[in-house]
Order: sequence, then structure tokens, then C-alpha cells
Amino acid sequence: MAYDDTNIFARIIAGEIPCKKVFENTHALAFHDISPQMPVHVLVIPKGRYVTMDEFAAAASTDEQADLSRAIGEVARITGVAETGYRLIANNGEDAHQEVPHLHFHVLGGKRIGGRMIKGD
Ligand code: 5GP
Repeated sequence: MAYDDTNIFARIIAGEIPCKKVFENTHALAFHDISPQMPVHVLVIPKGRYVTMDEFAAAASTDEQADLSRAIGEVARITGVAETGYRLIANNGEDAHQEVPHLHFHVLGGKRIGGRMIKGD
């Protein structure tokens, strides 16, 4: 999928729109979701221009992939959900209702999570 440089997360990375940052490393950024679905709801994104995980897995450098993975782990520890449990979700493309066309992982936790695997129907 062609990358849209005007998407909201591209603008957050560019510093044009503020975010509540949780963690940052060279190639990844984590910030609180603007509309939290759980007590802990943090988004972790690569700083590079990737829409989906398959694209990221195929094209991102080893350093970019390591930084994204490490950022997710840091967020789990910083927010405390590494202790209590958390759900990691990435919606990819139309069938998964991906709203923002920039790869992002939702780190969800802070209370007992229901049995449903995904948000939306
Ligand atoms: P998706 O459905 O694409 O997996 O999730 C997109 C997420 O981005 C939603 O949970 C939504 O609340 C969040 N979001 C959309 N716009 C903004 C924004 O401007 N700032 C932040 N922090 N989160 C946003």
C-alpha cells in the first residue's frame, strides 16, 4: 500500500501534532492512545514509513525491527502491564479495520481483559 505522508502518525513523528510520549528510541515511538479502550492503552509505532506488518517485516532494517520490538517490551515494563498481563494488537488493512495507515501496535492492559480477541465486529 502506498504510504500517505499526511496520516496522523506521520504528523506526530514529524512533531506537527503533539502526543503523550511513553518511550522513544532511534527507530520507534510509543505514546498514549487518544481514545483509550483500557486503563493502559499505548500505541507503539516505527518512525519509518510502513503501513502494515508484512511490509515492515519485508522492508525494515534489522535495527528498525529490533527497536520496534524493544519499544514494545519497554512500554510493557514502564506501564506495569508486564507484571499483570497485556494484549498486543496490530490491525493491518481493510478487513482488520486499520484506521490509521501507519503500522502501530496497541499495548492494552491495566485490568482483566474480556475474552474477545479484537475490537470491532
Ligand atoms: P487502528 O484502528 O488503526 O488499529 O487504531 C488507530 C488508533 O489510533 C485508535 O485507537 C485511535 O484512538 C488512535 N488515534 C487516532 N488518532 C490519534 C491521535 O491523533 N493521537 C493519538 N495518540 N491516537 C490517535
